[in-house]
Amino acid sequence: MRGLLAKGQAMNKGTETKTIAMPTRLVRDWGDAVMRHCDYCSRYASTVSDEEGGAICAECCDAKHTGDLKCALEDSLQRNAQLIAALEQAQTERDDLKALNQHLDLSIRQAEGVNASIRRRIAELEASQLSVKLPDYRNSPDMHTKQYYEAIGFNQGLDACIEAIRVAGGKVEGSE
Ligand SMILES: [Zn+2]
Repeated sequence: MRGLLAKGQAMNKGTETKTIAMPTRLVRDWGDAVMRHCDYCSRYASTVSDEEGGAICAECCDAKHTGDLKCALEDSLQRNAQLIAALEQAQTERDDLKALNQHLDLSIRQAEGVNASIRRRIAELEASQLSVKLPDYRNSPDMHTKQYYEAIGFNQGLDACIEAIRVAGGKVEGSE
């Protein structure tokens, strides 16, 4: 996010940059030209007055204008480079955000998948009924043996177990 902010600032700085003004060529009245030494190149030539009241020849006028044009061109190139850099940074951050969004979308979908499978498993567990296979009742036909009373107690214990399992929602196999 910090990067995005910095990029935005860079873009603003770019747009604030002044528009590159094309240097206008000074209109000089060559009808008033006088033959004298040029203050710029020192050659004896046809000259007119420059802005400071000196003498300038046609060749030096051209050179000055060319220099101004060169400066304007360099400014323009520099500004273009700044704008391109800002644009590339914006595109990079846009791509980063796009990738992050895709990653988050994927994570959300994965989490949703996990949630769904957990919910499915809970439903399965809730639907499944505990089924218990208990030992068989015991028989002891002879009342006068110790085993008879053991069998009675064992069978009563089984009944208590069956009841407890049913109360808990379970099922006892073979007891329906
Ligand atoms: Zn000159």
